[in-house]
Amino acid sequence: MSETLQSFNPFNGEIVGEVTVTPLSAISPMVSAARKASIHWRSLSIDERATRLKKAAHSLRKNARKLGELLSQENGKPLNNGIGEVSYSGDYILQNIDEIIEALKPRNIEDDHTHSTLYYDPLGVCIAITPWNFPVSMPQWLVLPALAAGNAVILKPSEETPLSAQAYVEIMQSHLPENVLQIVHGAGEQGKALVVAEIDLIAFTGSRHTGKEILAIASQSLKRVILELGGKDPMFVLDSANIKLAAQVAAENGFENAGQACVSVERIFVDDTIADEFEHLLADKVSRIKLGPWNDPLATMGPMINERQRQIVIGHIDDAVAKGATIVCGGKDHPEKFVNPTVLSHVDTSMTIMNEETFGPVVAVHRFTNLDEAIKIANDNPYGLGASVFGKASQSEQVARRLEAGMIGINKSCFGAAGTPWVGAKQSGYGYHGSIEGHRQFTQVRVVSTSI
Ligand code: ADP
Repeated sequence: MSETLQSFNPFNGEIVGEVTVTPLSAISPMVSAARKASIHWRSLSIDERATRLKKAAHSLRKNARKLGELLSQENGKPLNNGIGEVSYSGDYILQNIDEIIEALKPRNIEDDHTHSTLYYDPLGVCIAITPWNFPVSMPQWLVLPALAAGNAVILKPSEETPLSAQAYVEIMQSHLPENVLQIVHGAGEQGKALVVAEIDLIAFTGSRHTGKEILAIASQSLKRVILELGGKDPMFVLDSANIKLAAQVAAENGFENAGQACVSVERIFVDDTIADEFEHLLADKVSRIKLGPWNDPLATMGPMINERQRQIVIGHIDDAVAKGATIVCGGKDHPEKFVNPTVLSHVDTSMTIMNEETFGPVVAVHRFTNLDEAIKIANDNPYGLGASVFGKASQSEQVARRLEAGMIGINKSCFGAAGTPWVGAKQSGYGYHGSIEGHRQFTQVRVVSTSI
């Protein structure tokens, strides 16, 4: 009998639906089917592939409400955010497809003696392994460039959110030839089986722990790997900062998706002279966050994805408080299934919250009197995804250049302009999402040269 995977509403534990777990024995035949399908798919021109993907984008937008409802039910985020995520995914295709086409076109380079053409050829079969926090847009970021480049793709979504991924894949499949996009359901075992299969590229978004496991296994056959592994984003608020703006961005970026986001402000380094005012403004905003289930129109934050994640976050808060941190707001009396949006102050590096990724609605404020020391503490962490600095432009730029992160915002959150890569430094991962560099990761570059 086939095994099923049930998906639960994180607010009340009700079953939202179920899918059939992919038996491990089915994975090798699926990879063979993908490889076969990739032959026709790669023979289409990039423009032909793009036309199909644009049609899929319109279908995603058309189905945004239906799919958004499903997404919010199984992930717990407010409905507006669920719908927004699906429409964003449709919009993302339309906004980025021309850039992808451009990135994949052959390029000519010449010196005095040689004329070379760079071809960006498909790799063959790519797998995408994704997490639960953005159940449609995380798959989409990997699936889209892989398909556009002419690869067949097998998606293994998180076992926490299989229904949204299934619905997303069905919409995409309705515009694609058979087996060009397939889905594998299950947990780590299915992920591992895909990693060791005869595939050409592993694109993974998830925890650092799993990323290491994947890299270790992939190294045995030198498979190509793209990893996006989270962060412990620092924010700097200098004495010259617009304190109101800094508090606003911290409240938005640190608490978005109940803090269950890889780029999320987790540590805030504030100049001691303005710390009281900053904390006051931040707490004022954070305490207005309204908790509730996905279908409560007034709720601005949903429950945690599961009890395990909730306990990790509460554990970080309790550990900090036990070691001397003060609670500015939230911090205790967490309603069942939720974590109270929390601002902690007077934290230090002995606390787990200053070292490990929390992935919850909590920010830790570290008051500093010595900027150099604060930068050293911020950098003394294995992660390096996002960061931000608030203050006068010249001073902020200097601080920004010293932060060991891939994406750094000055007087704004860390997100870059359209066309820039989503990129991590250090153990936040290898490779990029989006951008010309990012799209080309899903290809094999071939250089064909002639003498002049
Ligand atoms: P999280 O628990 O935060 O989602 P994980 O890194 O555990 O982060 O999971 C991300 C994705 O990786 C999920 O789809 C999960 O099923 C998958 N996964 C977990 N363990 C492995 C593994 N050893 N090899 C491949 N994929 C895995």
